[in-house]
Amino acid sequence: MSADILDGAALAKSIRAEVAQRVARCVAAGRTPGLAVLLVGDDPGSAIYVRHKVKDCEEAGMRSLLERLPADTTQAALLARIRALNDDDSVDGILVQLPLPAQIDPAAVIEAISPAKDVDGFHVASAGALLTGQKGFLPCTPYGVMRLLEHAGAQLRGAEAVVVGRSNIVGKPQALLLLQADATVTICHSRTRDLAAHTRRADVLVAAVGRARMIRGEMIKPGAIVIDVGMNRDEHGRLCGDVDFESAREVASWITPVPGGVGPMTRAMLLVNTIEAAERRLGRG
Ligand code: NDP
Repeated sequence: MSADILDGAALAKSIRAEVAQRVARCVAAGRTPGLAVLLVGDDPGSAIYVRHKVKDCEEAGMRSLLERLPADTTQAALLARIRALNDDDSVDGILVQLPLPAQIDPAAVIEAISPAKDVDGFHVASAGALLTGQKGFLPCTPYGVMRLLEHAGAQLRGAEAVVVGRSNIVGKPQALLLLQADATVTICHSRTRDLAAHTRRADVLVAAVGRARMIRGEMIKPGAIVIDVGMNRDEHGRLCGDVDFESAREVASWITPVPGGVGPMTRAMLLVNTIEAAERRLGRG
C-alpha cells in the first residue's frame, strides 16, 4: 500500500480563501478584523513565524499590528501592553510569540490576554472550555489536525486514536478533540512502556513529540491515518517530522508530509480563530 498524501498546504489555501470572504463581510459591516502580534527579543525563528502570521493576516484582508519589544523587556511592561490591547476595541485577537526571554513567565503572559481575544487558544479559560465542551478558542495546531482528519473522511466515532505527546499546546488538546469526536483515545509520552504496542493499535495516529522520524512503518497499523505534527531537523539539517515518512507511507492509508502537512494548517487556523473573534464581537459568532 502507498498512502494518500494529506495535503495541508492545499487545504490551508482553501481555508484562507473562506476566511477572506468572512473578513470581507465584516469590512462591509464597518469593521476590519485586527490581530495584534507581540514579539519580544530577536530570536530569528520567532521573527520568521511572526512575519508569516502578519503576511497571512494581510492577505486575508485583516489588519495586523506587529509590535516588536526589546529582549530586556520586563514582565510588567509586557503585561501593561497586553492590558492596553485587551482594551483596544480595534484589536480582535492578541498573540504573544513564544518562547519569551527568561525574565518573563509565559503562563503569566498568556493569562493576561483577554479570553475573548485569545486566538492562540492557550489561556486556561480556553483550555477549560475545551475540556468541558464549551465555546472557546481551540489551539491552532490540534484544530488544524481535526480539519485534516475531516478532509480525509476519517471515521472517528469508535476509532482507536493514539496521540504521542502530552504538551498543553498540542498533545493534550488534540486528545480532547479526538475524544469529543467519539474516538477512543490513548495518550503516550516519554514514560510510556512499549510505545509501539500502542501505536500499532491506532486507526488514527497523531505524532507530536519533537524527535526526528521516531515513528517507523513497523509501528503503524496497516490502513491507519497518520498525522505528523513534528518539526525537526535531521542530521543533515533537513526539516523532517516525527514520522519516518518513507516507511510509514507503505503502511498507512493517509499521511501528512513535513513540510506541507500540519504546519500550513496551524497558520490557517490562527486566521480562523481571529475572524471568529471578530465575528463574535460583531455579534455574529
Ligand atoms: P513538547 O516538547 O512540549 O512535548 C513533547 C511531548 O513528547 C512530551 O509530552 C514528551 O513526553 C513526549 N515525548 C518525548 N520523547 C518521547 C518518546 N521517546 N516517546 C514518547 N513520547 C515522547 O513539544 P510540542 O508538543 O510543543 O511539539 C511537539 C512537536 O511538534 C515538535 O517537533 C514541535 O516543533 C512540533 N510543532 C509543530 C507545529 C506545527 O505547526 N507543525 C506546532 C507546534 C509544535 P513528556 O511529557 O513525558 O516529557
